[in-house]
Amino acid sequence: MKPVFYDLHIHSCLSPCGDNDMTVNNLLNMSLLKELDMIALTDHNSCKNCPALMDAAKDAPIAVLPGMELTTAEEIHMVCLFSSLDGAMGFDSYVWERLPDIQNDVRIFGDQLILDKEDSIIGQEKKLLVNAASIEIGEVSGLMRRFGGLCYPAHIDRSSYSILSNLGFIPPEYGFHTVEVANPSRFFADRHNLSIKEWYTVITSSDAHYLEQISEREHCIHLDTADFSGLAARLL
Ligand SMILES: [Zn+2]
Ligand SMILES: [Zn+2]
Repeated sequence: MKPVFYDLHIHSCLSPCGDNDMTVNNLLNMSLLKELDMIALTDHNSCKNCPALMDAAKDAPIAVLPGMELTTAEEIHMVCLFSSLDGAMGFDSYVWERLPDIQNDVRIFGDQLILDKEDSIIGQEKKLLVNAASIEIGEVSGLMRRFGGLCYPAHIDRSSYSILSNLGFIPPEYGFHTVEVANPSRFFADRHNLSIKEWYTVITSSDAHYLEQISEREHCIHLDTADFSGLAARLL
């Protein structure tokens, strides 16, 4: 096992709330500057900047996973990470068809920019990506098996869009083995939350929407291999 410093929750300029400076090359270069070993791109309900990032990063000394932050029908955010770009893009289409047919108003929500590997804008996602998809949280693990991915609840310690805020607990029948905690020192200061540490692998990522928010080399997981399969062996 080796220590892998990671940030597995990063948004690009495709997320309407993501800064337009969050281009694939900017976020890749910032991650390299911070000497991270593994990152994932997790835009809201879309993987459409993953092809550009994977392409831009193909010779870079960092593991890059395609991903998505899914908003379930219950308005719970789930981090979804994929073993392949094909799997990610298959899930992207599946989710897109299950998003409400509401157009993005750029003036209110911001741009949803799709880039190529040189950061040139090749499109705008027209559908508003921050709405809930008509996918229930109980379906997500099965969908991950179908599309070659893994998932876990995002920022469970936040007061909105989290499994604890929306359901009050983590139903065991969903089979999650991992949770993301945004602020572990605050969350685990409450002793009622300590059992989470015993039952789940706890991941802490930045949820960066701006370049400067990308994690320092501070969150570490020990893996056999610094890739999706090494991660899946720990998180599933
Ligand atoms: Zn979120
Ligand atoms: Zn996020």
